[in-house]
Amino acid sequence: MAKQMKYHQYVENGQLYMACKNNCGNYEIVGDETVATTCWSCVLHVVGMPKESKSTYKPTGRPAGWHFMNEFVDADGNVFHKGKEQPKLKGTLKPTKVVAKKKTKRRTKEEILIARQAEKKAALKKAVKKQKDFLNHKFGGK
Ligand SMILES: [Zn+2]
Repeated sequence: MAKQMKYHQYVENGQLYMACKNNCGNYEIVGDETVATTCWSCVLHVVGMPKESKSTYKPTGRPAGWHFMNEFVDADGNVFHKGKEQPKLKGTLKPTKVVAKKKTKRRTKEEILIARQAEKKAALKKAVKKQKDFLNHKFGGK
């Protein structure tokens, strides 16, 4: 048995088990000289599902194309000249106000629905009027 008992270990059927160093509660069969072990589930966890991967999208709050601007100051006061950070200027300038570009106005679903309903109403009115005219004719004609 390893002399250092950093992680809990026990012997079962002549095999030495050691607690996973990640404290996840799993035990691994280890050799006598093993000081620490990582269980398979933790290995898979690290390899398969990285918690903090680079792909995690973090919005910077910077507008698109900020690095093309002659001068851009982010919310933290970092100053960039054409995308290059100017550490000396940090905190000396006010953050650049990000003005969202106006998008071409598109009708919302609701607006489309309302328009459609209005159309239907108009069509219905027409139909009702037609029927009235028809009835008026029929009965009025006599
Ligand atoms: Zn583990």
